[in-house]
Amino acid sequence: KHPKVNHPKPFPQQHCSKMLSLGNTTATNKTVLDRYMKLPIPDNKCQVMYVWVDGSGENLRSKTRTCECVARRGRARAGPNLNGLGPRVWDQYQRPELPIWNFDGSSTGQAEGSNSDVYLHPVALYRDPFRLGDNKLVLCETYKHNKKPTATNHRHRCVEAMSRAADQHPWFGMEQEYTLLDTDNHPFGWPKNGFPGPQGPYYCGVGAGKVYGRDVVEAHYRACLYAGINISGENAEVMPAQWEFQVGPCEGITMGDDLWMARYFLHRVAEDFNVVVSLDPKPIPGDWNGAGMHTNFSTKAMREANGIVEIEKAIDKLSRHHIRHIKAYDPKEGKDNERRLTGLHETSSIHDFSAGVANRGCSIRIPRGVAEDKQGYLEDRRPSSNADPYMVSEVLVRTICLDE
Ligand code: ADP
Ligand code: MN
Ligand code: MN
Ligand code: MN
Ligand code: MN
Repeated sequence: KHPKVNHPKPFPQQHCSKMLSLGNTTATNKTVLDRYMKLPIPDNKCQVMYVWVDGSGENLRSKTRTCECVARRGRARAGPNLNGLGPRVWDQYQRPELPIWNFDGSSTGQAEGSNSDVYLHPVALYRDPFRLGDNKLVLCETYKHNKKPTATNHRHRCVEAMSRAADQHPWFGMEQEYTLLDTDNHPFGWPKNGFPGPQGPYYCGVGAGKVYGRDVVEAHYRACLYAGINISGENAEVMPAQWEFQVGPCEGITMGDDLWMARYFLHRVAEDFNVVVSLDPKPIPGDWNGAGMHTNFSTKAMREANGIVEIEKAIDKLSRHHIRHIKAYDPKEGKDNERRLTGLHETSSIHDFSAGVANRGCSIRIPRGVAEDKQGYLEDRRPSSNADPYMVSEVLVRTICLDE
């Protein structure tokens, strides 16, 4: 029996069958592509891929322009002050001019056709692991014609909260879980006419039949490191074809920037392998683990001696704002997470707030080592795999640091 998969279709269903029947003829030859990618380009120019979150609040879009590159050969330098957040050290030698750009918002769910220009404001720059050389990717915020942020530009408010909490040095570490699918939306590597054996051997699994899609994971990890993302690890998950990567610790707004960009790289790398990435929090109903985005959080005070007192104060504040947090922890104000936070499969119930040491059935877990050292961080296990990291980090800072 073909299992039912809950996740947004990557392309319209009628195209799906057509693509499948075309089979290999839609796949291009990457070896031939490599010849062209090695062609040198003018010294004073580079390609910059502008990347943004579209009107779904979940999917990413991107397009490229050629930018002037100011050569600074021979010495390291910092990039400009992007969005007033302090200089980011980026490429050592080249820095592109990054103009504000625009796109057709009526095609991305971000504007009406009659007034469709949406502006792209570059905010965070990364090295390009696909085009290599001096080429770059730049994450952008989106603004409407009236200069107001678009409905899914959650970075705008996040920056404001982060700048007011800057003296508390909030750190985040996000564990991004995701599921690999075949282009027919069937979990990658699963038998086409049924299910793999029950969960048990797959978490951190080794060996054929226990791991599904490691090539994608390996390529993604290296792409992130190359690009300058603060990726800190990966592991295979409990459900076969489900994986996790961790980003962090990151301070303030850089958490959301690096996580969105890491997601972009994951979709791009998987595209090269003709594999689809799903961030649905419960891609396979039934006795299969869902996917979350556990968020580890600390302030400077929590990381210092006896910081456990601060951690407990934070948990008390979180307990008073459970519903507010659940609403911020997926793009549908809790509707997506409802399928995942059942109280089973290492989750807590969406309806209750709970906290405990080393307990994976709680909303908030204090890692065993943190309880022993009496300092460190807490883990909020509620955020959904498809949550917006800007919304998650923002609400944590508002509740814990700003007492809002
Ligand atoms: P788990 O045991 O829940 O699977 P992981 O090892 O997957 O944990 O992820 C732990 C995350 O916590 C990492 O992203 C790491 O960077 C982050 N982290 C570690 N220390 C801190 C801290 N003091 N504050 C915030 N995040 C932290
Ligand atoms: Mn056009
Ligand atoms: Mn983890
Ligand atoms: Mn996990
Ligand atoms: Mn975790």
